[in-house]
Amino acid sequence: MMNNGYEWLRQNMVENQIKARGIKDERILEAFYKIPRHLFVGPEQRPLAYEDHPLPIEHEQTISQPFIVALMTEALRLKGNEKVLELGTGSGYQTAILAELAGHVYTIERFEKLSRSASTLLGELGYYNITYRTGDGTRGWPEEAPFDGILAAAASEKIPPALLEQLGNGGRLVIPVGDVRGQQLMVVSKDARGKITEETLGGCRFLPLVEEES
Ligand code: SAH
Repeated sequence: MMNNGYEWLRQNMVENQIKARGIKDERILEAFYKIPRHLFVGPEQRPLAYEDHPLPIEHEQTISQPFIVALMTEALRLKGNEKVLELGTGSGYQTAILAELAGHVYTIERFEKLSRSASTLLGELGYYNITYRTGDGTRGWPEEAPFDGILAAAASEKIPPALLEQLGNGGRLVIPVGDVRGQQLMVVSKDARGKITEETLGGCRFLPLVEEES
């Protein structure tokens, strides 16, 4: 498909899947208009890249549905200078959205190959405010804590305590919580004095956040 074909599909995605469902933040919409989602999937998936569902990537993982990426991003309420931690780099698509909207993104992925392909592509696209790590994200990234925002792109039965510890005051953590039977998209906020409140954005379905044995 020609490049302007993708651009047309991308505009439709923003209008019909993201704007139409209530995402209003102009900076978020701009990021979705800009980022070439089709480059984050394999050649055979490209024509489907702007459809309203997740798609397979390597290692039996998935690139999340566009609207879910938008909803989770909105929940972080980024203004532009934040330090953000992302768990589950995967294709790197959500990473690119975060890199557009925050100051610096620290992203952790279990599979080295996924992390490498994501960093290569994001480098080619000109994102320099991202630091990559291969490993178990449930332990967070203590050397870089505290974070203003933390986003987990895989589901956990309980919120990993390390993530709560590494969330700074005034920060927000978005994470799918539950198991294969059912998950809720949780938003955990820490106020200026460190008091924690939780809310849910509704049901969701993510692959599991796989915790490494230590
Ligand atoms: N945001 C990604 C979503 C990828 S799916 C995208 O849109 O492309 C979730 C990813 O989380 C997978 O790549 C999986 O390998 C990774 N993952 C699962 N458990 C993990 C863990 N404990 N630490 C880091 N990454 C993990």
